[in-house]
Amino acid sequence: MCKVGHLVSAVPIGSCTVKVTVLVGGVGGARFLQGLEALLGLGEHSHHEVTALVNVGDDVWMHGLRICPDLDTCMYTLGGGVDVERGWGQARETWTVKEELAAYGADPDWFGLGDRDIATHLIRTRMLNAGYPLSAVTDALCTRWQPKVRLLPVTDDRCETHVVITDPADGEKRAVHFQEWWVRHRAQVPTHSFVQVGAEQASPAPGVLEAIGQADAVLLAPSNPVVSIGATLAVPGLRAALRSTAAKVVGLSPIVADRPLRGMADTCLSVVGVDTTAEAVGRHYGARSATGLLDGWLVDAGDSAEVPGVQVRSVPLLMTDTAASAEMAREALELAGITV
Ligand code: GDP
Ligand code: CA
Repeated sequence: MCKVGHLVSAVPIGSCTVKVTVLVGGVGGARFLQGLEALLGLGEHSHHEVTALVNVGDDVWMHGLRICPDLDTCMYTLGGGVDVERGWGQARETWTVKEELAAYGADPDWFGLGDRDIATHLIRTRMLNAGYPLSAVTDALCTRWQPKVRLLPVTDDRCETHVVITDPADGEKRAVHFQEWWVRHRAQVPTHSFVQVGAEQASPAPGVLEAIGQADAVLLAPSNPVVSIGATLAVPGLRAALRSTAAKVVGLSPIVADRPLRGMADTCLSVVGVDTTAEAVGRHYGARSATGLLDGWLVDAGDSAEVPGVQVRSVPLLMTDTAASAEMAREALELAGITV
């Protein structure tokens, strides 16, 4: 039997199976998962298991199609089909359908729907309409892409991020879908709060609580702390599972030198009253020994942080290539008591 996780610190994993569960959003999460995949040598001959609990707060209906941006980003990235420059969507994408929709004046016209991507959404929508839960649909889509990480939507239920803004068109306060705020407004409108629509009735998808409870290490990817990780934590039962797992819980800061690496995490953080620093995000997650979630917190080598009750380490946190992401994953696992 292998002794890993909180039982023994820094145990070499040797030939035993290590189970790692990671909370992720889209691009930041997917790149981190690539690093973990490389580090653990996932594939046919590896016995290690990585489960990604993927944010569904960004999911949206458009033109009658169900779109799950973060699930697709993870699936395309780990399946070798992502557009590497953009970080999302498929490589070799074309945009004919989008142009045709625009020629009809169809709303919304601000969302990037690629032709290849639409095939994914068509299959997903057809399966959802036939009554399959999102987790089963995701499994089916993954039979084509064959990611070596198990991708699980955090919930099969609707749990969408909406944003309360002052609408620049008429000065009225209203809630818009996260995508409208992020893509159409580029977060450049007066923003008051985030709301997880459906969260109260949502429950974790099958396997989610088990993946946390049976893990040897649980990691929070360097994903957006508010609209990726925060949205995921809104699903009832998630926080309790993270607080009670025997595994250590280690997070990686998406904020380096007081800035997000890409995206608008700074705007999201300011809406919830958190400074854009690695320390403030660590404190926002909080210590498991108090009322929070973390045992360990990785910040960039150029940053320092004090988070009461949490072991903090400074290591390079730039995912410049898979080797760099793998090194970050190694540091995270080591902080969780697992040496690779
Ligand atoms: P999204 O759903 O596509 O926005 O992706 P995520 O929420 O998973 O990740 C977005 C976050 O990843 C942003 O807040 C970035 O700051 C962070 N990020 C992107 N690249 C890097 C990197 O190289 N290192 C670190 N530490 N964070 C990164
Ligand atoms: Ca996202």
